[in-house]
Amino acid sequence: MSKNEEFKSILKERLTEKRYIHSLNVADSAVMLAEIYGADKDKAYTAGLIHDSFKDTPAGLQLSYLLENKVPLTDIELNTAKLYHAICGAVFAEKNLGISDEDMLNAIRYHTTGRENMSLLEKIIFIADFISAERDYNGVEIMREKAVRSLDEAIVEGLSFTIKDLIDAERVVHPDTLGAYNDALFKIQQEKK
Ligand code: FE
Ligand code: FE
Repeated sequence: MSKNEEFKSILKERLTEKRYIHSLNVADSAVMLAEIYGADKDKAYTAGLIHDSFKDTPAGLQLSYLLENKVPLTDIELNTAKLYHAICGAVFAEKNLGISDEDMLNAIRYHTTGRENMSLLEKIIFIADFISAERDYNGVEIMREKAVRSLDEAIVEGLSFTIKDLIDAERVVHPDTLGAYNDALFKIQQEKK
């Protein structure tokens, strides 16, 4: 069995049907973006496939997994349960799935918050998660158009919604999210000069 087939059977056990399909779709979108932007397609596929491996695990178990593995967490991370699954996913990929590629691990680790100075693969996974085939939120078509034109434009588009939503709901905005937003915005402005 190939590695990806092995990962699929592990994910089938861990995820709901809906999330499993999302994972396959993110992997496909990641390959599509990797082709356009010249990234490693195999890394993109696998990172996309396994990015949400902890998403359907109860938050309490996600947190204990992080504590068991002595993952350093900032106060914001500790207090934002929605962020646990990405960090768990990176630990799980390294420990249980035998992924040692730092770039893939970072792409998983930062797929929810983003961060300043994301690598090409990090950006691809971050955006693939926004545009996967089953996504049907308002504005997804604009995201899909931007994604194939400029990853930085897509990041600004996606994050401006995310950040607005977080603020409307009076929820914390992780500094890495602001870092990702500012960084992508700078890069777009630089290109226009
Ligand atoms: Fe996720
Ligand atoms: Fe996802």
